[in-house]
Amino acid sequence: MGRKCPQCGSVDTGPSFTFDYERDDSGRVVARNPFFACVGCEHTWQVEMVLVVARPFDPDDAEAVDSFVEAINKEVVDVD
Ligand SMILES: [Zn+2]
Repeated sequence: MGRKCPQCGSVDTGPSFTFDYERDDSGRVVARNPFFACVGCEHTWQVEMVLVVARPFDPDDAEAVDSFVEAINKEVVDVD
């Protein structure tokens, strides 16, 4: 993933959630400045970036959020 935890330096991190997102007419979700979480020390921090997610999600739907995280993981790999 290439995003080091600012607290412990682990690279075992991934996108966690975002507060700022919008869905366009085609159902695509654009997420801004998502939070990343560290698996090692459970630190979370915000990353200034924009992620375009191909599939819509409902933040109250756990399954949809999982899909969202999966999608942005793919997106991050593409970006980096
Ligand atoms: Zn950490």
